[in-house]
Amino acid sequence: MSEYSKPLPAVQPWSRPFWEGTRENRLLIQECKACGAKIFYPRKACPECWSAELGWSEACGRGKVYTFTVTLTGVEEKFAGDLPYVLAMIDLDEGIRMMGNVVECDPGDVEIGMEVEVVFERVTDEITLPKWRPFRG
Ligand SMILES: [Zn+2]
Repeated sequence: MSEYSKPLPAVQPWSRPFWEGTRENRLLIQECKACGAKIFYPRKACPECWSAELGWSEACGRGKVYTFTVTLTGVEEKFAGDLPYVLAMIDLDEGIRMMGNVVECDPGDVEIGMEVEVVFERVTDEITLPKWRPFRG
């Protein structure tokens, strides 16, 4: 794993629980204790009411493809081995939208509205990335 050369997230104090969660194969999302809003990406204050009283809850890990693109060519060398790959925006059942790769399927089979579930790809000792695959039930 030490040869991982793609960009890694910069873990911030307010996003650390998210990355600790993915490392344990859990998808955690921020929740405002004042107004109940679900929040993604992680922040220091609620974007709905500005409360700083935020907590975390575990998402069910399911959602639907809101939109996506298939990358076929024209990428930096470090991504060439992934071609073709799907980058999608996923609407989680919890009502938030998250960007990520759709994996474990032919890119030609991905459709808007397709049901997906989270999978976790450990890329370094510290970072595990959430990705999405077709929902298998
Ligand atoms: Zn709030």
